[in-house]
Amino acid sequence: MRGKAKCYDALRDYCESVPLVDCHDHSTECGPKYTDPILALMPGYFRSDILSASSDAEVAFMEDLTRPLEERWPVFERAWQRTKHTGYAQVTRRVLREFYGEAEPTFEALQRMAGRLLDYTDPRAFDAVLEKANIAVRLLDVWPDVKKVVDGTLPLTPRGRLCISLPTYHSIQDYASVQANVAPLGRLVTSLDEYLQACWDLFVAHKEYGAVAFKDQSAYSRPLDYGNPTRAEAEAVFNHFMEDPRRSAAYPEETRPLDDYLFHSFLRMARDLSLPVQIHTGHMAGIRNDIAKTNAVGLTKVIELHREVRFDLFHANWPYGGELLYLGKNYPNVALDFCWTNIIDPMYCQNLFRQALTCVPHGKIHGYGTDYVGRVECAWAHAQIARDNIAIALSDMVELEYLGLDEAKEVARDWLFDNANAFFGLGL
Ligand SMILES: [Zn+2]
Repeated sequence: MRGKAKCYDALRDYCESVPLVDCHDHSTECGPKYTDPILALMPGYFRSDILSASSDAEVAFMEDLTRPLEERWPVFERAWQRTKHTGYAQVTRRVLREFYGEAEPTFEALQRMAGRLLDYTDPRAFDAVLEKANIAVRLLDVWPDVKKVVDGTLPLTPRGRLCISLPTYHSIQDYASVQANVAPLGRLVTSLDEYLQACWDLFVAHKEYGAVAFKDQSAYSRPLDYGNPTRAEAEAVFNHFMEDPRRSAAYPEETRPLDDYLFHSFLRMARDLSLPVQIHTGHMAGIRNDIAKTNAVGLTKVIELHREVRFDLFHANWPYGGELLYLGKNYPNVALDFCWTNIIDPMYCQNLFRQALTCVPHGKIHGYGTDYVGRVECAWAHAQIARDNIAIALSDMVELEYLGLDEAKEVARDWLFDNANAFFGLGL
């Protein structure tokens, strides 16, 4: 994609030179190591578009490695022809071109790929792709073995900084889930007070390990409109399942008072630890989920109450751009994060970047986050698309004489690097 503004090339070149703060990724280990060319063409998110353009049965057929490539190819190809223009497909196209030297997925191309499928299990090779993408640092949500966080031995993938994975600490619903959460401390807890103390100790240990933020993606399974229940309501649920380890609180009616109470408690801890809180809002990975429960506007009461907690709202709240602009404009403790969004919907990002420039302080926008599990070749493609989107949006605004080229470069640098570097205290 190319912008039409006269200064597009100059701004795009500039964006290429700016290192990226990758605000969000899930790379638990170095990879991928592909073993099948069709699977190499539908890594991560693009599988969802392939599924949306075909069916569960057809995707199962494509992924059935007991069948030969020539049987699976026509099924994949039919879906590809129906979805080859999405943002996710752009990632596949760019990876094909850059890493395999192939212009289009054809059966012949797949046969050529088969003998030289990507293998980035070597950390040096993995890191070389991050270098090529000019990604300086990555915030990792990797659901770690917390014992290794506590004893300081957890390995991270290259350029990674840890985030504290929050949902499991407030979605507890039985004795076993409580004790599993605190086990890394070598304790058993018996009361809500002891549980809260243990969580605090765990979060402190994360910060001592080097964690730079909390991360919460509870919107996958519950609405974001957290209530503000009393401690007594929460404690009644906690005590009910703790006094009989065979009990389990029912989702969502019974778990909700405890879940909501703990979430508020953890936000106070985030405040006291001076760590920002990243929250999943908008579109969810996979297909078939309820989008209405993820709209960031559901967080309004939480944001208003916890004014000393800094919230980083993810995925540009896709597709609820207007609500996100409102929250960014009106709450000093809200930042807008475009992680993943640059490939979910490139045009949404270009439009929202343009619009945000005119209504949200530009110092509150984080422009990039990879959001893949491994698949570092996709990080390179994704970073390219994000730079395209930002360069197109800002060069358009220069063309409109809304700002000058030098100012546009400053904004681009803020969105790609400086804002996130400061917000997360990365000290780069
Ligand atoms: Zn994610």
